[in-house]
Amino acid sequence: MKKFLAILLATVMTMSLLTACGGKDAAPADVASSEADAAVSEVLADGVLTVGTNAEFPPFEYVGDSGEPDGFDVALIKAIGEKLGVSVEVENMEFDSLVSSIGNKIDVAIAGMTVTDERKNSVDFSNSYYDALQYVIVPEGSEIATFDDLAGKAIGVQLGTTGDFIASDDVDGASVSQYNKAVDAVNDLINGRVDCVIIDKNPALVFESKFAGQVKAIDGAQFDFEVEDYAIALPKGDAVLADQINKALDELKADGTFDKLVEEYIGQ
Ligand code: GLN
Repeated sequence: MKKFLAILLATVMTMSLLTACGGKDAAPADVASSEADAAVSEVLADGVLTVGTNAEFPPFEYVGDSGEPDGFDVALIKAIGEKLGVSVEVENMEFDSLVSSIGNKIDVAIAGMTVTDERKNSVDFSNSYYDALQYVIVPEGSEIATFDDLAGKAIGVQLGTTGDFIASDDVDGASVSQYNKAVDAVNDLINGRVDCVIIDKNPALVFESKFAGQVKAIDGAQFDFEVEDYAIALPKGDAVLADQINKALDELKADGTFDKLVEEYIGQ
């Protein structure tokens, strides 16, 4: 009963919020149009979506000038929250804690997170929203250029990331330094403590321009790295929430908001 009331309340709140935001045009066409569409995940029943991220991964997430997490993913999940009629609270935490915090400290996580089979054992994923590839950041003048060149090298990574899994599991004889903050890995690259850093393409390009003249980012295609997909990590088994989030994502793509955010935060 309590659950029913909560769902009813959330539905009424959603509808009144959508009306307040401009009525018919702003409302997703299918809100409450059938009983199935009116289903609201229990996670959203309190009107708040608590989202975990690791704001050390520009341009997807970083601490903005206001001191609050900002970036493409943060803007995207806020836009999703608006579509769902809930407010979004962002918790900044270590990347490696995100998956295990879903369902307790946080409802969902958005963090440039790659869909992997191992993570799928603990969480579900939304539809994918961005393609990614690992890149290799090296000091200017480095001779590292192919996958075989990585063997035996000192490699910096962000702890618990797909870059970490490549360095730790796939590269022969690497000594891997794991950092909670990507920028600390890049600083150690600059001061010579590691030979390269394996990290996703867009952050690699941000660090390349931030530390221009000191480091360069090499395309992961040269290393035969596999293409990855980013998606929002969701509590396992909450099909209603997955459906609501996927629908919101579809609407943001259809109405141009998604492309606008790509242009604003990521560029070409
Ligand atoms: N895409 C990588 C992963 O999912 C890195 C994400 C990150 O560092 N925020 O492991």
